Amino acid sequence: MSIPTERSGGRPTRVAFLDHTAALGGGEIALLRLLRAMDRGKFEPVVVLFAEGPLVEQIRDAGVKCHVLPLSAGVIQTRKDSLGFSSLLRFREVAQAFRFVWRISRVLRHLNVDLVHTNSLKSDLIGGVAARLAGLPVIWHVRDRIVPEYLPTPVVKVFRFLCRIIPNRVITNSHATLRTLIPHSRPHVDGSEGRSRSPLAARYRVIHDGTLVADYDGSRNAASSEVNDSPPLIGLLGRLTEWKGQHIFLRAAAIVRREFPRTKFQIVGSALFNESDYEAEIRRLCTELGLDDCVEFTGFRADVPKVLEKLTLLVHASTTGEPFGQVVIEAMAAAKPLVATNGGGIPEIVDDGRTGLLVPMSDHEAMAAAICKLLSDPVAAIEMGRRGRQRVIEHFSIDLTARRVERLFEETLSARRARQPRQPSPFPRVQPQRP
Ligand code: UDP
Repeated sequence: MSIPTERSGGRPTRVAFLDHTAALGGGEIALLRLLRAMDRGKFEPVVVLFAEGPLVEQIRDAGVKCHVLPLSAGVIQTRKDSLGFSSLLRFREVAQAFRFVWRISRVLRHLNVDLVHTNSLKSDLIGGVAARLAGLPVIWHVRDRIVPEYLPTPVVKVFRFLCRIIPNRVITNSHATLRTLIPHSRPHVDGSEGRSRSPLAARYRVIHDGTLVADYDGSRNAASSEVNDSPPLIGLLGRLTEWKGQHIFLRAAAIVRREFPRTKFQIVGSALFNESDYEAEIRRLCTELGLDDCVEFTGFRADVPKVLEKLTLLVHASTTGEPFGQVVIEAMAAAKPLVATNGGGIPEIVDDGRTGLLVPMSDHEAMAAAICKLLSDPVAAIEMGRRGRQRVIEHFSIDLTARRVERLFEETLSARRARQPRQPSPFPRVQPQRP
């Protein structure tokens, strides 16, 4: 049931979704899927992005209003791993960020939204403070593991602390991500109707990402050479960056090639977020390993279901804990067997031995052995793919994700109405207007 708030007066609950980037990263693809699956009878989404990019058109094509308020390139392009106290003290950028926060806050008031959802770390901070200034409840959707191997230690500490004071609720995309925010607490689990164990834990909710199962043709799983005599094709999908482990995949490919000489390999994806040095490195490695004739670098593909259709199996090679790993549920939805590294959120998705084979991170020999095992038993591999698709239907459909997010939106609004009718705002009252 939709919660008609004091502000909404019976119309669908209007939610502003904020993201600092319009590049098609995993978090932005997850946002797009969520927007498409939301119940428009109950919720009216409006998106505010801090940069132009391909996501803008896709959001508008989905029938969702999208506003772009460009943030200075200096702040947008600051890489997460280069953040630190020194960058926090760069006066010009800090001043720009404050002005921007103020601007976003005014925009949120003018959009007359009931609730704010932030989808990326930078939008958490900027949008979180802006929502508070506008007197609006805010939910942070954390899709990154908040750990020193990913962010500088001071930023990890500050972010974990801010999680407790800025947002009304925090969604994480896996239990693994959640454990990085509150290492010692026991959280409320998505889908469970059980009571929260503490006010702190009640603030956090694990909601796994989902995908639209109908996008994938689950019947095209018999691409194995033993079944139809075409060479096996093994793919790795994801942006080109060191922690996605394309270099480990190539080293594993060199071993697999010795046992299954006809095997072909695809590296699908491109470098995003100023990370193009790594691409040059792995292309060099490919040549050094003598794999140029059997490895294809496809670049970014917008037609992932089609790419998956042609694969014999998918490899996921992240060398550090993956926060969630949407490509893994996508391959399972396409009924593909898979080999994935055992870290972060992956074991929450893959039932080891039944819907995929888990191998230790950064171990190319174990990865090659698992690939060879699947290639040498195509019937078992096909069965594994079927079970994987079924698991996605039951646990990782985008409808399930959307209903859980919607339920959290409703809970957040009712909890707030119960506690305080309206938060004061430092702004003068404005006539609600549609931008
Ligand atoms: N992706 C894509 N085209 C490509 C490579 C990747 O559309 O060429 C998509 C992929 O299908 C998935 C997303 O990018 O939906 C990556 O999300 P994931 O959670 O796996 O990783 P992230 O990039 O968020 O770490």
